[in-house]
Amino acid sequence: MKYFIMNLGCQMNQADSERIQSVLETMGLVKTEMEAEASVLGVVACSVRQKAIDKVHSKIHEWNERKQGQNLLTFLSGCILPADEDAFLRKFDVVFPIKDLSRVPELLRGSGIVTPLSQAPQPDATGMEHFWNVKPQYSSTFEAFVPIQNGCDKFCTFCAVPYTRGREVSRPSQAILEEVRNLVDRGYKSITLLGQNVNSYGLDKPGVERSFTELLQEIGEYGKTSGRKFWVYFTSPHPRDMGRDVLETVARYEVLAKHIHLPLQSGDDKVLIRMNRNHSMDRYRTIVHEVRELLPDATLITDIIVGFTGETEEQFENTRLAMREFGYQMAFVAPYSPRPGAASARWSDDVPLPTKKERLRVLTEELHLSSLAYNQRLVGSKLRVLVERSDRKEGYLAARTEGKIPIRFASTDLTLVGQFAEVLVESVRPLSMEGQLL
Ligand code: SF4
Repeated sequence: MKYFIMNLGCQMNQADSERIQSVLETMGLVKTEMEAEASVLGVVACSVRQKAIDKVHSKIHEWNERKQGQNLLTFLSGCILPADEDAFLRKFDVVFPIKDLSRVPELLRGSGIVTPLSQAPQPDATGMEHFWNVKPQYSSTFEAFVPIQNGCDKFCTFCAVPYTRGREVSRPSQAILEEVRNLVDRGYKSITLLGQNVNSYGLDKPGVERSFTELLQEIGEYGKTSGRKFWVYFTSPHPRDMGRDVLETVARYEVLAKHIHLPLQSGDDKVLIRMNRNHSMDRYRTIVHEVRELLPDATLITDIIVGFTGETEEQFENTRLAMREFGYQMAFVAPYSPRPGAASARWSDDVPLPTKKERLRVLTEELHLSSLAYNQRLVGSKLRVLVERSDRKEGYLAARTEGKIPIRFASTDLTLVGQFAEVLVESVRPLSMEGQLL
């Protein structure tokens, strides 16, 4: 019996999918990339994004139509708002939050899926403990996402994550270190520690669990003793918990990638208060200065929302000025849209769409300027890059630098995919570069 999973969410949802796949395979199900030949069809989605919800509805409508002539089972998981669960249950056969992964065999059996192994006994652990113990089916052979924490205690007013994934829970550090070491030993080159607030790791278990800095130190030490080359990233940190010790640790170890993700969301103090971000622009500025001082070559990336409820022209201008001041190499800028379940969804979405689009255009221009200026400084340098795939341009391979800047170079040698290579940077554009393989 074959299964098909569609992922409509972020990296966190990808990590969810990889563990769901493992559980399905221990039940004897076989993965297929072809939807039409699967009998078990699943969506792992971020149900806090309207776009994803719309896609989920259209997909389940299509699958339910197919059910007329076939025996199919459908399921939904990922970030699901409790309020949506009942509505989705009327359309899907099985709906489960990711913390209930241990119940999946039982839920599928209850819906009529009987496979040779589906009678296997229930695992000892339940909840997130079970989820974290499941060995994932990594979707890449050289890049992996390792969840280190689930949930969030921050309650930003525009976000529904604390309601879909619950409060912050840290995964035991021993298990994280084991997974990371295992990946390194298997030759993985890029490992990303994932969580909604990675740098508040361990705060829910004070005195019992390692802090985030200590976790990074352990990984850094393993990088030294293993003698292997790899890069470790982490996302997303919250400026509120971004201590100098984290940056000092990144600076100390070669395997900790010189790439810092620091969500700005808005460059205006009043908007930050309405967003409940719990830090000021002064605090954010101090962190950026520390990044520049301790990690002068690091790339800095951010997330920004434009047109948040009540955002005035002057407040938006403060965000534009902040972007110019901090000179990001990459920014994920999104026009505000109310997320069902989030506190701000109760407020008027009063910035007109054309204004949001114009603000997005202005920030994209700023990003192009800062990214180009950074990339121009790299022309003529030799960089270690991780080769990812064939490029869209024929005869070229696509790679990324340690700072995650896309770079392509002429080569058709596919054995380089998943390996580090050395490239001389020859020409640059905003957000990308081209070079020559050395
Ligand atoms: S945006 Fe705010 S509430 Fe949402 S996951 Fe990040 S820190 Fe938590």
